[in-house]
Amino acid sequence: MTVMSLTFNDRVAVVTGAGRGIGRVIAEMLAGHGVTVVCVSKSAESCGQAAEAIRGSGGKAVSLPVDVSDGEAVARASEEILKEHARVDILVNNAGITKDGMMLRMKDGDWQDVLSTNLSSCFYWTKGLSGPMARARWGRIVNITSVIGLMGNAGQVNYSSAKAGMIGFTKSIARELASRSVTCNAVAPGFIQTDMTAAVDEEVSKQILTRIPLKKFGKPEDVAHMVGFLCSEEANYITGQVFTVDGGMVM
Ligand code: NDP
Repeated sequence: MTVMSLTFNDRVAVVTGAGRGIGRVIAEMLAGHGVTVVCVSKSAESCGQAAEAIRGSGGKAVSLPVDVSDGEAVARASEEILKEHARVDILVNNAGITKDGMMLRMKDGDWQDVLSTNLSSCFYWTKGLSGPMARARWGRIVNITSVIGLMGNAGQVNYSSAKAGMIGFTKSIARELASRSVTCNAVAPGFIQTDMTAAVDEEVSKQILTRIPLKKFGKPEDVAHMVGFLCSEEANYITGQVFTVDGGMVM
């Protein structure tokens, strides 16, 4: 009888935005499968606490504060990580921000910040870490996009552009690295209960709920399960895809 299981073979992973929310649960879940996780976030405190919690439950994790929107900082961090761990097998580009506003009133800085934190960061990290994956003929890259990248949203032109860009990025990287058995996929969460969505007005939350067929908001675990699967050995024949985890919002 064939039983479904997830295999990770002592892999090393970098998870960005691992200090809180979805990224933190992804980091915990990978560590729970024996993966050594480098937890990256903007503040040293946030990724430090995440890594400490993982070590406290018997997992292997270190923390590294890096501003993912800064290309030079990411290049330096990638070198440091590769020196320390010899290889990185899994990269989860999860760090992200929103700076909402209607397009006509949006400041250039709010456009740039959201584009560089959500989208350019994927380019910086993938450039920094995928070479050794290609040489090892094994790798997993998972980019956390959003249903907003598929649907668009009034008041989020910067965020939806960045998240849609991540989908194009995912498909191109999947094609570039496929011959080296490095897969690249995207996960598009719907409305997930984290700090990012905590600020959403109660009336707006109620309206969003009416558009979710499963009639509930998602939890970080719901996203992390999909990411975990895509990072496992078992997902070896899946690349260039976008998986929505959204209670049926986008069909
Ligand atoms: P949170 O706001 O809860 O956490 C964001 C994480 O990203 C934090 O750890 C934060 O670091 C880190 N981060 C932000 N900016 C930077 C930066 N410049 N450099 C390094 N790290 C940074 O977000 P969520 O967990 O809700 O979201 C995670 C991802 O999922 C994002 O890409 C988001 O766009 C996407 N997503 C979320 C949805 C939701 O409903 N929550 C829906 C769809 C997509 P620090 O802890 O130091 O502040």
